Amino acid sequence: MTLDGKAALITGGSRGIGEAIAIRLAEDGADVALTYRDRADRAADIVERIKALGRRALAVRADSADPEAPRAAVAGAAAEFGRLDILVNNAGVGVLGPVTELSLEDIDRALDINVRAPFLTAQAAVERLSDGGRIINIGSCMAERIAFPGGSLYATSKTALTGLTKALARELGPRGITVNLIHPGPIDTDMNPADGESAAMQRGFTALGRYGLPSEVAATVAHLAGESGRYISGASIAVDGGFAA
Ligand code: NDP
Repeated sequence: MTLDGKAALITGGSRGIGEAIAIRLAEDGADVALTYRDRADRAADIVERIKALGRRALAVRADSADPEAPRAAVAGAAAEFGRLDILVNNAGVGVLGPVTELSLEDIDRALDINVRAPFLTAQAAVERLSDGGRIINIGSCMAERIAFPGGSLYATSKTALTGLTKALARELGPRGITVNLIHPGPIDTDMNPADGESAAMQRGFTALGRYGLPSEVAATVAHLAGESGRYISGASIAVDGGFAA
């Protein structure tokens, strides 16, 4: 197993892409802590699945909109496992709509959860991450290509992660810590179901003509998290079926 003995924290790990990442990293050998906001039942179920794989697991209720939550989540994971090697900033919300219809509340929510929380979580993790560790941020293909109207706020929030990723890659490189950004395309989850209203349009914007699976994003996270990813840092990697092509 490539991640044997490693400990990972994944924000928003109770469903969708985060769930797939949690399971994949555990399959690869890591102990996994995951955060969630509402779905304690789903989080508990995933903890049991990870334990069944022979790994340690922990679910932490932590609303990314709360500025205190990141530090508590990082401290909880590090205390449970005695170390922290991998942080995956995955929790996010899709706030879409015409720019004139976005309220101040919408803007604050998107920026708090999609930008401030990854920043604060990375900031809290830096002092705990082992040398040679990993930070993997989950962005969006809409940071690379705006294929349809209504993405001003979401794209703004996800594009901010490029700056965070590159700057942290520079800052943490001397410790052998890599920092990367994955831009998923349309992935079949509760946030963006493959049978949703705009699914046919989104499918049409991909080169492959289909939605991706959460496990297809998790596979790239696993690559970056493992030894195979050790010389990749500061990169933005599309897992988008050619959405940005
Ligand atoms: P889902 O909505 O399916 O799942 C979101 C997960 O994040 C859940 O575990 C949820 O917890 C958690 N979460 C949501 N808000 C918060 C919060 N405020 N605090 C803590 N946890 C929270 O999303 P996806 O799996 O589709 O998306 C995961 C990431 O991938 C997001 O950053 C998203 O922007 C990005 N992405 C998704 C794409 C897609 O097509 N699906 C495309 C491009 C990017 P709970 O279960 O408790 O509600």
